[in-house]
Amino acid sequence: MSQKPVPIMQPWTKAFWAGAKEGKLLVQHCRDCQANIFFPKKVCPECWSRNLTWIEAGGKAKVYSFTQMLDMVEPVFWEDLPYVIAFVDLEEGIRMTTRIVNCRMEDICIGMDLEVVFQPLNDEIAMPCFQPADPALRLAASSADTEDAEDGKAEEEAFAGYQTILYEIGGKDDTVCFITLNRPDKFNAINRQMARELIHAFRRVREEAGVGVVVLAGAGEKAFCTGGDLEIFPSLADHQSSLNWLAHEGLDVQRAISGCEKVVVGKIHGHCLAGGLEIALACDLLYAGESARFGTTEINMGVLPGWGGTARLPRSMPVFRAREMIFSGRKDYTAKEVYDMGLLTRVFPDQEFEASFERIVANIAAKKPAALRMGKEVMARSVDGCDMETALALERNAIQWLTYAPDIQAMLEPFKADPTRLTRQQKKDNMASDQR
Ligand SMILES: [Zn+2]
Repeated sequence: MSQKPVPIMQPWTKAFWAGAKEGKLLVQHCRDCQANIFFPKKVCPECWSRNLTWIEAGGKAKVYSFTQMLDMVEPVFWEDLPYVIAFVDLEEGIRMTTRIVNCRMEDICIGMDLEVVFQPLNDEIAMPCFQPADPALRLAASSADTEDAEDGKAEEEAFAGYQTILYEIGGKDDTVCFITLNRPDKFNAINRQMARELIHAFRRVREEAGVGVVVLAGAGEKAFCTGGDLEIFPSLADHQSSLNWLAHEGLDVQRAISGCEKVVVGKIHGHCLAGGLEIALACDLLYAGESARFGTTEINMGVLPGWGGTARLPRSMPVFRAREMIFSGRKDYTAKEVYDMGLLTRVFPDQEFEASFERIVANIAAKKPAALRMGKEVMARSVDGCDMETALALERNAIQWLTYAPDIQAMLEPFKADPTRLTRQQKKDNMASDQR
């Protein structure tokens, strides 16, 4: 289906759609009992009279109830997401099912004042939708088609300069995105601004088709990240605000990382503590310099890790070791120790860390982004504890999907002649690990 479905015109609805095309919201009116009627009918539902006429409604309404759709099965609707369906009460005393458009999702509320706006579906039919009556709550006034793009652009501009992170595309052929926590004087602690910027950045990188790998690192010498910025704790005095920050915004950051379509590689140096460690746990691969120090320190303040620590740590190492980390509150676990506990991918001597890390990232970033993405997704489902048959089915589907790609046959060609063939980079890598 490439076209949106359009309403089927009936003899008794024709006038309604003709009005909508002219920008008028027409409502049926019963001349006998004075009832206003919606949707259009053949007889008055109040008194069964056929003595019906049309009046033009003022187009003012209030939200009775609404729901927001973040995803839809039919691709033709994807351009309209998020899609808000609402019941609205018109001043004329009728309740309509409609869409709310031209408004930020977070601004919509029950009782909100709306006014009608008509969105053309094709040459024949325009759909009455509703937008905020208050112009200040509307998105940039423009046609429905450009509105999303402009909204996106406005958001892009608002983030043109991140305040607390660095975002840079680089590496060979621009295949790597570097996202760097950039509050070095604060040990790269995460405040609200940084949380918002990280979520934005990890979504933004989705649009970079050539990028297969995101490197997440901390700026400065001292730390990867020491977790949530304690300065904001006084503002958490009320329960709602505290819950929003501790539970939801932190969770949104982890989800942005773990759900990112790219392979996220954590580059850990200095202190990697509390929420900083939890952010690291959301990465796909973790490399550290040997002087890095790790710990979950929340229990020293009488609380617990709240950004996934109690869930991800026991999934990242044997549970008896995870318990010790969480219960002890120690912040001096060495990189070698946590590697031995099962957490890190590899540890390097500090003086070799930069070069080795760069080599590993370059090798992975040279792979096809779609294959990395599918690999990440399939393994994530698999380690999340689905049964073996389901995991194998996911793998089959993924490889089937990848094999359909037009460029795959050319990539397979050299391996047909020699299945043991190593790329030049892999040979170099093997030599480098032999030397260690
Ligand atoms: Zn009537």
